[in-house]
Amino acid sequence: MSAEHSIRTLLSASPLAPNEARILLSHVLDKHYQLSRSALLSKDDLVLDPRALSDWKTLESKRLAGEPVAYLIGKKGFHAIELTVAPGVLIPRPETELLVDIALDAIKTIAEPIHVLDLGTGSGAIALAIAHSANHVALTATDQSLEALKIAQQNACNLQLDTRVHFKQGSWYQALEANDLFDVIVSNPPYIAKGDMHLVQGDLRFEPQSALTDDLDGLSCLKAIIFGATAHLKPKGLIAVEHGFDQREAVMAIMAEAGFRDIQNHADLAGHPRVSTARK
Ligand code: GLN
Repeated sequence: MSAEHSIRTLLSASPLAPNEARILLSHVLDKHYQLSRSALLSKDDLVLDPRALSDWKTLESKRLAGEPVAYLIGKKGFHAIELTVAPGVLIPRPETELLVDIALDAIKTIAEPIHVLDLGTGSGAIALAIAHSANHVALTATDQSLEALKIAQQNACNLQLDTRVHFKQGSWYQALEANDLFDVIVSNPPYIAKGDMHLVQGDLRFEPQSALTDDLDGLSCLKAIIFGATAHLKPKGLIAVEHGFDQREAVMAIMAEAGFRDIQNHADLAGHPRVSTARK
């Protein structure tokens, strides 16, 4: 074993972005030596053994080939929780935390018992983040993908939220009973239009296309969710949906057409119109 395989040398020689190299190497150190991230600095003369070194090389080359960091380490931080993620689910995005915060704000003003619905839950990110931060709320979360629901259920168990978040399989409201009613409905549906160049760039190339695009104009799932909400919201209930930066007018118009009131738009941290909300 040679010093060229020390933590310090591996990091400085890596062609990866420094922050990504640190995340991946720290994953290897945790797995092989149960070392925390601080070892990257405090034990930087540690020389990796052959198995750890081979894991690092594999992760490094997969990342160089474009595979998302979150899939390589199998987890992603979101809002106040950490989720297990795998190629069967969309990687939770920081901008989606806005949807969680809006739901949490709305929940504060509602009398108990409170029931929230998350449509197209994927990894369970939105539903579980809400459940984690509002411990008096019950949630139903749906997805049409059984693969996604398996990961979401695993996340619920890991976070000990499985008694409060109930998962159901089906497309949008089809997973529910006709008379199921909610105080808040949230969704981050596939809203990228067919043929959008983002689908063939970056992390998106590796994510489930069904979680990203409706294969149409990008608005079809948003329409189904907004129109369907009229039958599943309690009076004064809130619908909150994430959408593309250029879909604000279209989504607000769909909400008006569906008969909602108090229609508002919220910008994400980058200043892009990202979430539209309305009340029944
Ligand atoms: N926000 C994601 C992206 O553009 C898209 C997620 C979605 O379609 N719901 O990377």
